[in-house]
Amino acid sequence: MPEFRKDPTVDRWVIIATERAKRPVHREASDTALCPFCAGNESLTPPEVLVFRDQSDPSGLPNWTVRVVPNKYPALVPDGSRLETTSENYEARSGTGAHEVIIESPHHVTDVTLLSESQFGAVLRAYRNRIMELRTDKRFRYILIYKNQGSEAGATLEHVHSQLIAMPMIPKLILEEIETAKNYYQANRRCVFCDLIRKETGGERFVTGNARYLVICPFAPRFPYETWILPKQHASLFERSTQQDDVDLARILRETLIRLNRSLGNPAFNYFIHSNPLDQGENNTYHWHMEIIPKLIQVGGFEWGSGSYINTVTPEQSARSLRAAIP
Ligand SMILES: [Zn+2]
Ligand SMILES: [Zn+2]
Ligand SMILES: [Zn+2]
Repeated sequence: MPEFRKDPTVDRWVIIATERAKRPVHREASDTALCPFCAGNESLTPPEVLVFRDQSDPSGLPNWTVRVVPNKYPALVPDGSRLETTSENYEARSGTGAHEVIIESPHHVTDVTLLSESQFGAVLRAYRNRIMELRTDKRFRYILIYKNQGSEAGATLEHVHSQLIAMPMIPKLILEEIETAKNYYQANRRCVFCDLIRKETGGERFVTGNARYLVICPFAPRFPYETWILPKQHASLFERSTQQDDVDLARILRETLIRLNRSLGNPAFNYFIHSNPLDQGENNTYHWHMEIIPKLIQVGGFEWGSGSYINTVTPEQSARSLRAAIP
């Protein structure tokens, strides 16, 4: 049974999940017969919690387009016992939550940019769909959607997929972003992200944009080629996006990942969605966004020791290269 433990010296929750250690080691070979995410191998995963099917396919085969299943080696589980102990500063709670896998294609594709725009759209719809369902469970306070592509980025299976973790507390990083945004709003009566969008549109850190979204390399990136996608209209919650938003986000996300592939030669990467916590809803201060981090460097002692970062590539250089990748 996984467990949350809070480090009393820094107010940070850690998930202790020993079941995760039983995960298969990363297989580089495309062994589709054994791949639990390939169509035909559905019995190798837990039963699905959401499935989209291709309505035009009359074959009657398992003709799904996107499947969402509970993680077989979960970091958190939905039906945890109610463990809550506090003794001498040590706070622990049962690892109650949800840990799901969004399987992004029935085919054994290992680079997500090979999927079509409409498939990207279906994946985004699956994210929203799962968040809308899980947010009715009042035990959860935060849901993080994230993707690991490539073993250097933490993927243990190469078949395209992303993950979702619903948890009963708000992660430290999100709390810090919310606090910073709130302080900025109190000082300026404007959303810090909306101001950033105004400032960066068409500037030297601008990568691309469409009617609804903007892609930039942020002013002070932690990593080379760190890239953010923001909705141009102020919105705090990703899951409130519409189908039309999904069409535009699918297009720009796919395009941005292709730009990164071309600039950097198909790097491993992570992306994640930062959205307002479930109990905070829409407000004037927080603005949801997506962060993409290509895995180009190992984080070293300075970064671990300081929580700060040394970045050897300017965001202006990164943005210039990403702009040039698709002229
Ligand atoms: Zn597969
Ligand atoms: Zn805003
Ligand atoms: Zn963020």
